[in-house]
Amino acid sequence: MSAIDLHARASKDFEHKLAETQTLLIRAASQFAPITQASSLGAEDVVITHLINSLQLDIPVFVLDTGMLHAQTLELLARTQSSSRAPVNVYRPVQESVIQFVQREGKDAMYKSIGLRKACCHIRKVEPLERALAGQRAWITGLRREQSNARAEVPLIDTSAERTKFNPLANWSWGDVWHYIDANDVDYNPLHDEFYPSIGCAPCTRAISLGEDFRAGRWWWEDEAAKECGLHVKNIESKEEISV
Ligand code: SF4
Repeated sequence: MSAIDLHARASKDFEHKLAETQTLLIRAASQFAPITQASSLGAEDVVITHLINSLQLDIPVFVLDTGMLHAQTLELLARTQSSSRAPVNVYRPVQESVIQFVQREGKDAMYKSIGLRKACCHIRKVEPLERALAGQRAWITGLRREQSNARAEVPLIDTSAERTKFNPLANWSWGDVWHYIDANDVDYNPLHDEFYPSIGCAPCTRAISLGEDFRAGRWWWEDEAAKECGLHVKNIESKEEISV
């Protein structure tokens, strides 16, 4: 059974949500340039990229290739780069930093402590994200309120940091996301068909069972509270921290 078969169920007010999202993206492109979409190539992000392309908006997309992505994700990246009207830029970690970290802490450092996991995320995600966002006035993410308790208050437009963040799918349900993918024949990561709702680096992502929390497949060996330390939690020192 595919993810579409399992999940595609539009909310009653889906058309209203879609119109709201389209309006927000059009406004973001016209009033907040330079602006870019951060894409992990997950279900939400492929929907946003599809909307950017179908609305012909001047919003480039970027992907962080951490060096630890699944083969299926890299294949989707290549397909997206060749099919997208909007440019798809790829940012990678500084190779020397990765080599030194792995030599010092080992290949499985992320499982040893939260500190080492965050250090790995910093080298492979946070620093490349900073480069991707340099010079941008605003960015777009696929955060949804439904994804976790920590994201329950995600606003459509987040102005709490120096750089405005648009979350155009904040109100969408998981069923809405898959309804859009189904209705528009959007290319998606086949790992979603293998019960991966949230897809990140291969060592830190697993499939979930029926009834498990949406983000249970990410950093599953850590406490729930520690998980939102990556790309999207606000840092009180006003630095945008990330946790894709
Ligand atoms: S998600 Fe895992 S492999 Fe990826 S950067 Fe973070 S700790 Fe490293």
